[in-house]
Amino acid sequence: MDVAVLDIAGKPIELHIRRSNRVRGHRIVVRYGLPPELVVRPGATVAAIKEAIDFHKGWLERQLAKAVEPRLGLERLRLTEEQGRREARARISLIAQSEAAALGVGYSRLTVRDQRSRWGSCSSKGALNFNWRLVLAPHDVLDYVVVHEICHLVELNHGPRFWRLVERRRPGYRDSKRWLDDHGWEILAYRPPVTAAAAA
Ligand SMILES: [Zn+2]
Repeated sequence: MDVAVLDIAGKPIELHIRRSNRVRGHRIVVRYGLPPELVVRPGATVAAIKEAIDFHKGWLERQLAKAVEPRLGLERLRLTEEQGRREARARISLIAQSEAAALGVGYSRLTVRDQRSRWGSCSSKGALNFNWRLVLAPHDVLDYVVVHEICHLVELNHGPRFWRLVERRRPGYRDSKRWLDDHGWEILAYRPPVTAAAAA
């Protein structure tokens, strides 16, 4: 049994089943834009898998209900990953440079990546990472994520001092944060068209 089809709110949902000896008992993983995955022990029996599915079904149902119908119309967009990354890097670098200068801090590296669940990160060594899919968000949202990570160069935690600094730099940041909570899953689920060059 590699794929189980569940009936969730009248819709067939594919649940991928993966065996791993790194899991204790069982675990369910939901990532935006990918089918949910149930991880079980290598020797799990069909009965044990059924039991695990019953155990997680309610939670899975609630998770999937959150991923409501798309509202951004991204399915009509033809932005390739290469174009998106280039655009993201250009816009993010500009903001990062001016914001770092304003705060009097520096970063060691700025990378734009394909990430499934994060918008950005800042390492203790000052290396910044950003998700290229931020180009699909409104400019204020991309701007907030960059400013957030630059503020981590000053405060490498999410304590009150960190949030005060973010607020000082971007007083309206809460709207951007809310936008990511409401729509972030949609931009994470965006599948860029495969270019002719990449397909060849
Ligand atoms: Zn943070």
